[in-house]
Amino acid sequence: MEEICNTEQCTGCAACYSSCSHGAISMVVAKDGFLRPVIDKEKCVNCGLCIATCPVNKPAPKTEPIGTYMAWTGNESQRIASSSGGVFPAIATAILQQGGVVFGAAYDEHMNVRHSCIESIDELPLLQSSKYVQSDIHEAYRKTNAFLSQGRRVYFVGTPCQVAGLKNFLRKEYETLLTSDFVCHGCPSNDLFQKQIHAFEERYHSRVKNFSFRSKKRFGQGYDCELLLDDNRRRFLNAELVPYFYGFWKNITLRDCCYQCQYATTGRVSDITLGDFWTVKRYHKGTKTSKGISLIMANTQKGEEILSAIPELVLIPESLDVAIKSQGHLNHSVKMPTSHQTFMDSYSELSWEELRKSYLTPSTSYQQKMRLRNIVKILTLYKLWK
Ligand SMILES: Cc1cc2nc3c(=O)[nH]c(=O)nc-3n(C[C@H](O)[C@H](O)[C@H](O)COP(=O)(O)OP(=O)(O)OC[C@H]3O[C@@H](n4cnc5c(N)ncnc54)[C@H](O)[C@@H]3O)c2cc1C
Repeated sequence: MEEICNTEQCTGCAACYSSCSHGAISMVVAKDGFLRPVIDKEKCVNCGLCIATCPVNKPAPKTEPIGTYMAWTGNESQRIASSSGGVFPAIATAILQQGGVVFGAAYDEHMNVRHSCIESIDELPLLQSSKYVQSDIHEAYRKTNAFLSQGRRVYFVGTPCQVAGLKNFLRKEYETLLTSDFVCHGCPSNDLFQKQIHAFEERYHSRVKNFSFRSKKRFGQGYDCELLLDDNRRRFLNAELVPYFYGFWKNITLRDCCYQCQYATTGRVSDITLGDFWTVKRYHKGTKTSKGISLIMANTQKGEEILSAIPELVLIPESLDVAIKSQGHLNHSVKMPTSHQTFMDSYSELSWEELRKSYLTPSTSYQQKMRLRNIVKILTLYKLWK
């Protein structure tokens, strides 16, 4: 067997890797920096299970939302620590209180983004907040299966392609499994993120302990980066001027499949879809947004029931039409800029500095505009505080 699915459409969901009981598939960093399956022909028995499990070859079933809500959690500290309205930690807390386990994306000790499992509320901060990096599924599907087989409740959160990968891997429905995906812009690779982390470490002469793409400490909900260094120094960085994040914004560095995403639609593969309600003020004048407001969709009865059973969740019904107008990625994928292909073609040959200078640095006028915007934001907040 040469190929499990079309390379350009491969999402790196790792369903093939997880399904292979012969250990014949490894997820390996390819020339473009993304994890891709590689088959060891010596170990492969040509059973075809990897091909049959792959959601590119066999799309996971989708359902249209049955409820759409503007939402946030009444738990202030959880809401502030999350990217959006903190719906994820509210659901996760409910599942953990019932003795369940929660899977989501966390940083490991080297700042790699990897799917991890938590079993207590104390560990929740590890999973909270968006890491705009493709997470490594590693053993998460297999562990999910093991927990479900023991009768434990599992809440699994991931990109739509990861939730589809999990569903195909499990091959049957579990009443005890709850899944969330999110409206997804697309993902750059962990390999590229590592280059950015090393650049920070060189610049600040310290190991990076944590990185938030969506710190709410300075400006509330939005994109503001916060770097925590080993010596406990904190640095706030203008998100648009962080090279890694600039590549994400401008859609230069996303995985090939993200430009033709089969999940950029209202038909969803999960029980609950999470997302930001960026345009909330257009529809609900006077809403205070600084702590974060989500726009979420209940896609199944199970999703609807769990949402309505969480007392701290504020749920205000919204129309699907508003959701589609607010969330472009509910009906189209990101557009591929011409620089994407040249970036990927030269990725393995260029150093970080060369990639940064050629692709990940905004024009001087854009930099000035962003710096000025931050000064205005700081002064406005200072005025409000005074
Ligand atoms: C790569 C990416 C692209 C996104 N694009 C959009 C978008 O275009 N529009 C939009 O409205 N929302 C998008 N989101 C979702 C949004 O950023 C929030 O994560 C979501 O609204 C949930 O916020 P919350 O406050 O409820 O919970 P949070 O506490 O912020 O929880 C985030 C949840 O997502 C999981 N997660 C974080 N990073 C990853 C990752 N790299 N891979 C898989 N799971 C992860 C966490 O484990 C956690 O379960 C995106 C998220 C990611 C990670």
